[in-house]
Amino acid sequence: MDRKLLLIILDGVPWRNFRRLFGNLEGWVDSGEAQVWKHRAVLPSTSASCYASIHTGVTPQEHGCTGNSNVFRLSHKDVFSQVREAGGVTGAVTHSYWSQFFNRHPFDYVRDIEYDEPESKTINHGRFHSMTGYGQVNQMTPSDMDLFGTLTNLCLRFGLDYGILHTCTLDSMGHRFHHDCEEMDHACFVMDEMLAPFIPRWRQLGYEVIVTADHGQDERGHHGGRGSLQQETALYYFGDAKGPEADTVIDQLQLAPTILNRMGAPIAETMKAKPFLK
Ligand SMILES: [Zn+2]
Repeated sequence: MDRKLLLIILDGVPWRNFRRLFGNLEGWVDSGEAQVWKHRAVLPSTSASCYASIHTGVTPQEHGCTGNSNVFRLSHKDVFSQVREAGGVTGAVTHSYWSQFFNRHPFDYVRDIEYDEPESKTINHGRFHSMTGYGQVNQMTPSDMDLFGTLTNLCLRFGLDYGILHTCTLDSMGHRFHHDCEEMDHACFVMDEMLAPFIPRWRQLGYEVIVTADHGQDERGHHGGRGSLQQETALYYFGDAKGPEADTVIDQLQLAPTILNRMGAPIAETMKAKPFLK
């Protein structure tokens, strides 16, 4: 592998929340450690469809995941399979959908909650949570500190080349409280502060880091459609590559080939979008 990379997906954070409320990430943009662009989700801008597109680099119309109630083992090659093809070690600390899409479905709460499978063709080291019972009054999300710690633990113990972390905390907060309120200001502030000490630590371990979301949310906390608040989020990149002009909008389908290109892994023939980092 040419490089190691971590992809951090904070579910459901619209562009304006990232730029307005994430003071650590924005401070690193000002100091030159990070670059930021607008990132536009696929349609539907629904979580499961976006996860599948982020990792396969193809549209929902092609991979077939039409929403959260239609989760299955995808047939397309993805970032995990391509990193493995190049001999890299992969890890995931995410919602169980990621295991279902890219390793096996249905999700077995005992077998699949945590696994270490060095021979796997996709995910070698998985730590998952299902959010079973999730609703407006009970978010069922783990603490983000625990998730960041778990990813770092996997990096140190297993020498991950590629790791992904995904957390639904802010998406759940947005569905519950919407966006023009103290609760959301505070939740974004806490996320930014919890994440911040891990970024220099991951950089010291030799990782490039991408922080983004799967989609945004509008003023009522909704997403799924074409509204710019629903589709648009930010993408922060920590690494040595040169990115496009600051006003460029990154298409969600560019993420998978960009990650593979940075790592020196083969881009699947189905991933037609252009890498945005050189
Ligand atoms: Zn989502």
